[in-house]
Amino acid sequence: MVGHRCSVCGLVAFPPDPYGCQNCGASEDALEEVELEAAGSLRAMATVHRHHQDHPATPFTVGIIELVDGPVIKAIVQGEEASVGSRVEGKLVPTEITDNGTQLVDLYFQVVK
Ligand SMILES: [Zn+2]
Repeated sequence: MVGHRCSVCGLVAFPPDPYGCQNCGASEDALEEVELEAAGSLRAMATVHRHHQDHPATPFTVGIIELVDGPVIKAIVQGEEASVGSRVEGKLVPTEITDNGTQLVDLYFQVVK
């Protein structure tokens, strides 16, 4: 995962923000690319039973994840054992094949045992 770190205030942001720092307002010149670990803890979660698109198939669980590097993101969480406070790690999962045959992947999170 690639994010930005602000050289003025130190904020680490994900996804990268091309316009500048969302915390201190520094310009994009103050942002440096940083590699983020796809791991963190689950802050909250909700199961989606009805969804307006075919993918992902319902039911699925959406989690609010605090990454070990700081940013808080929203992502799909897999695993019946997931609960608030669980340690989770990201994994690229094949999701669907487009009309032209391209395999799409998405970053899902799974509970670390
Ligand atoms: Zn900043």
